[in-house]
Amino acid sequence: MLGIIGAMDIEVESLKALLTNKTEESISGIDFCVGDLGNEKAVVAKCGIGKVFSAICTEAMILKYKPDMIINIGVAGCLDETLDIGDVVIADSVVQHDMDISPLGDPVGMLSDINIVKIPTNVEMKNKLIEAVKAVGINYSVGVIASGDQFVASDDKKNYIKTNFDAKACEMEGGSIGHVCYVNNVPFTVIRAMSDKANGGATMDFPTFTKIAARNSTNVIKKFVGILEE
Ligand code: SAH
Repeated sequence: MLGIIGAMDIEVESLKALLTNKTEESISGIDFCVGDLGNEKAVVAKCGIGKVFSAICTEAMILKYKPDMIINIGVAGCLDETLDIGDVVIADSVVQHDMDISPLGDPVGMLSDINIVKIPTNVEMKNKLIEAVKAVGINYSVGVIASGDQFVASDDKKNYIKTNFDAKACEMEGGSIGHVCYVNNVPFTVIRAMSDKANGGATMDFPTFTKIAARNSTNVIKKFVGILEE
């Protein structure tokens, strides 16, 4: 079973609509849709915005449906100047840029107890997603995706995240989804299409660009599960 999580309806609704033999169940206020998606059995959920909702969703999904792997899809702010709106970043690792115990001597981003800054994503899933992105014909990068409980919209914050973590995209859920998958030994990856430049600048039209970006990220997943005809 493949688990798919997006933060907003627009990021998962077209995949939910494609599920056949569908059943639905609500846990902790999150709706989990289970069914067949192309070649895969899948569970698809909208988790809500931010690290707490996404962690609740991931833990519930793992305990209830025991997915073999989880993919977090959706949109993100772009930190890679070679990419444009609609282009895609596939994570080779995820970090939580707002985790900071540096006053007590930890490196910024260090997750206490597991003592990791960057949690690596599953290599086979990452490679299969790269093949899917290439087949769909979208420009892409592979690298660090950084999450935190804030919408990044200034050059200062953008530069902080780039400098400390060498990240290519910033968003609000991938790091916590990866954290929950890591402690449960569930393979995971994150793919995000760029909805904005994370600087609050002239390219900022979040609702319009989110539509384009969300469509691109779901098209990659459709290719991944063998149901994109193009
Ligand atoms: N209620 C708003 C919330 C959007 S928050 C709405 O419905 O439009 C932004 C969402 O997009 C989060 O899920 C986050 O993961 C992603 N995102 C896109 N650009 C981002 C940025 N520049 N900084 C942080 N998150 C971003």
